[in-house]
Amino acid sequence: MSDTPVIGVLALQGDVREHLIALASADALARPVRRPEELAEVDGLVIPGGESTTMSKLASLFGMLEPLRERVRDGMPVYGTCAGMILLADKILDPRSGQETVGGIDMIVRRNAFGRQNESFEAAVEVAGIEGGPVEGVFIRAPWVESVGAQTEVVAEHGGHIVAVRQGNALATSFHPELTGDHRVHALFVDMVRAVG
Ligand code: GLN
Repeated sequence: MSDTPVIGVLALQGDVREHLIALASADALARPVRRPEELAEVDGLVIPGGESTTMSKLASLFGMLEPLRERVRDGMPVYGTCAGMILLADKILDPRSGQETVGGIDMIVRRNAFGRQNESFEAAVEVAGIEGGPVEGVFIRAPWVESVGAQTEVVAEHGGHIVAVRQGNALATSFHPELTGDHRVHALFVDMVRAVG
């Protein structure tokens, strides 16, 4: 891999465009990924925010669920925000019927844990591994992490709840750094992708 890794954004549903912009600002070559052939060509992948039930249904419909599981299992760096965090969880506490995940992070997540759409909020969040002060966390019907396994590192908490975790090459945040114009979390992920290359 060159110094400019190719990073995909899973583009089945959700805030794809914002992630493409944030990744490009963090010096990655960013492109949307919808099909297994496109997934095969990227060095890392972002799973955006949106609606996790819809996203998992579309992933299954597009024949992406197994290829995603396989690449994550093989160690491809992956970063999930909000609904993307839910997709990376090995277990959902309150899944909708038939809701599947890609998995990869040994954690249990609670969907919509911070409340409904009109209870969305912003808060300063200190993230381990990110210098220069807290990031502005945008929480939109956000999940939190109920519990983590021994291999999962908690990298941020808010209000006593886990809101960012890392396990190996997988990173997940309850909040949406792609909406803030502060690209430090994306830069951290780009560095994770570079480290694998
Ligand atoms: N609550 C949504 C879900 O369950 C996630 C919301 C978001 O990604 N902003 O998928």
